[in-house]
Amino acid sequence: MTDRYCVFGHPVGHSKSPAIHAAFAEQTFDAIEYTAIEAPVDDFAGAWRDFVAQGGRGANVTVPFKEDAFRLCDTLSPRARRAGAVNTLILGGNGLTYGDTTDGVGLVNDLKRHGVALAGARVLVLGAGGAVRGVLAPLLQASPASLHIANRTADKAIALARDVADLGPVSGSGFEAIEGPFDLVINATSASLAGDLPPLPDDLFAPGATAYDMMYAAEPTVFLHWAAERGARGVDGLGMLVEQAAESFFQWRGKRPDTGPVLEALRRSL
Ligand code: NDP
Repeated sequence: MTDRYCVFGHPVGHSKSPAIHAAFAEQTFDAIEYTAIEAPVDDFAGAWRDFVAQGGRGANVTVPFKEDAFRLCDTLSPRARRAGAVNTLILGGNGLTYGDTTDGVGLVNDLKRHGVALAGARVLVLGAGGAVRGVLAPLLQASPASLHIANRTADKAIALARDVADLGPVSGSGFEAIEGPFDLVINATSASLAGDLPPLPDDLFAPGATAYDMMYAAEPTVFLHWAAERGARGVDGLGMLVEQAAESFFQWRGKRPDTGPVLEALRRSL
């Protein structure tokens, strides 16, 4: 039987994951089927059980189910346990469900591909939602000089910083207490989705700095426009999406796809 995988979300029609995984499978000559499934918001565990009963071997999980996925797993990777969220479900040979989160490694691999050095860098992360929770540990493990989290709701940034304080030099605040300059600024707020820009100081960027927006679109986001006007190099989150998918594919299939051509094709399709 063909191995079956899927992405669960609600809504999920917009997901690019089926196209990404189809491209990976073509590269590696793996005969898999990968579909998008809109799970009911009140019964994610039931949707996973049904999928497994129909031959499902693994799944990606997107908004709003990452915490539900975390709760249903029998075992978790250390990074998923720390993130409190799961974006990759793997059915073990013993029938048990293993959960991992690949968003953080996806971001770090995309930064690497763009030649952004994390070691010794002053890093600012904007936002304190689910996406930030998933990427803090891998960012801190790459040895930045400092990592500051700033969020509209300051308490959430401070609490997140406290949760990962054992991993490196990290602090949290509201936007008003941001003190630059930074070598890397990662926008992980959903402000870009609404075309908004968080209130940021003008002297945010050090010379040669990179501005990274986790959101992606055919045109640069408001944040990337604003950053370009202040001399920063802009990168959007499309590469993170492809890199996190590649890490999930590796977890399922034991093969690492070449992300470059898949990213290029996806960029052309935006
Ligand atoms: P959440 O809903 O969990 O968090 C949203 C965050 O944005 C909160 O920190 C919230 O602040 C902040 N926020 C929302 N609106 C504004 C605003 N107008 N001004 C300032 N801050 C605002 O979302 P996620 O963490 O899941 O996702 C965040 C972004 O990252 C989204 O754009 C998402 O598409 C993107 N993403 C991209 C991925 C990729 O692979 N490229 C992967 C995952 C996410 P507060 O706490 O005060 O409400």
